[in-house]
Amino acid sequence: MSITQLARTQVQALTPYQSARRIGGQGHIWLNANEAADSGEYQLDCARLNRYPECQPPQVINAYATYAGVDPEQLLVTRGGDEGIELLIRTFCEPGQDNILICTPTYGMYAISAETNGVGILEVPLNDDRQPDFDGIIKQLDQVKLVFLCSPNNPTGDLVNSAGLLRLLNAAKDRALVVVDEAYIEFCPESTQAGLLADYPQLVLIRTLSKAFGLAGIRCGFTLANPEVIGLLLKVIAPYPIPEPVAQIAAQALSEPGLATMRGRVADINALKATLVEQLAASSQVEQVFAANGNYVLVRFTPGTQLFARMSKAGIILRDFASKPGLSDCIRITIGNQAEMDAVLQVLQQEQ
Ligand SMILES: *Cc1c(COP(=O)(O)O)cnc(C)c1O
Repeated sequence: MSITQLARTQVQALTPYQSARRIGGQGHIWLNANEAADSGEYQLDCARLNRYPECQPPQVINAYATYAGVDPEQLLVTRGGDEGIELLIRTFCEPGQDNILICTPTYGMYAISAETNGVGILEVPLNDDRQPDFDGIIKQLDQVKLVFLCSPNNPTGDLVNSAGLLRLLNAAKDRALVVVDEAYIEFCPESTQAGLLADYPQLVLIRTLSKAFGLAGIRCGFTLANPEVIGLLLKVIAPYPIPEPVAQIAAQALSEPGLATMRGRVADINALKATLVEQLAASSQVEQVFAANGNYVLVRFTPGTQLFARMSKAGIILRDFASKPGLSDCIRITIGNQAEMDAVLQVLQQEQ
């Protein structure tokens, strides 16, 4: 018997998530993972590195609670938003029996986490307006434990319609949890659904420091939910998930000066995004510019422009979504800094 055959059947069959890092590429301008172009500066105090950290460092929980306008009991800090997604699946879904529901095309980790844990996946594709098909989802509610929505959706950029979400939340009462992934919400903070948490115990939000806070490297995310949900997740999470240096950096990022830095970065990115969108819309090589509510924009290029290859030749790494259903000729561009956006526009304007 080979070692591979000793592994769980589920794992043997698994294709790992094709993260931007794993796909890689040759280049010097990385616009494929929705990372920020800079991280900021942080101090580290190494005096307590001999001690195990707190499971839920209070300085991080309290600072994020203030920032997000929720109670500390409504919060869980995790190793990136991805761990929050995985914990929800491991806490609420019985392997080999339960399902999650996803609205494709969307973020890939919901399906990957379900698969690794032997949990089924029901797909209800986005409708022609790229909104969740709320009627279609509601029909399936007795078949699923968790419904994953993403707002702004990665990669299409659309915000979830609030009236539809309310209808879904009411239908999901005592049947399923509705998870709204707000990884990019800092780029359109007025669109958060956090205001609904108090009235809808079946609502869960996912947040992260990886995007607007520029801290993808520290792996720090948050789950916002009613205290009963948080209590269940706390039973499943590892005893020391948040390394001490991560807690220190996260607390600094969530301090008043840290939040001001983040808001400045968001304003810069949103301004660069507006310029890029304008130029893309004016280009004969572009067929469609999708809603740009995050720090990225999905673009459908005219067939035959081979934009991805031309960018790659110029050292610019983007994310190709052309093979996804409904996203033919679509490429996602992360909004980097001014020089990076200039490089993108230069390639776009080249003679073909
Ligand atoms: C980036 C991202 C996350 C979480 O990223 P982490 O780095 O694990 O915090 C979650 N959801 C979406 C849609 C994302 O794009």
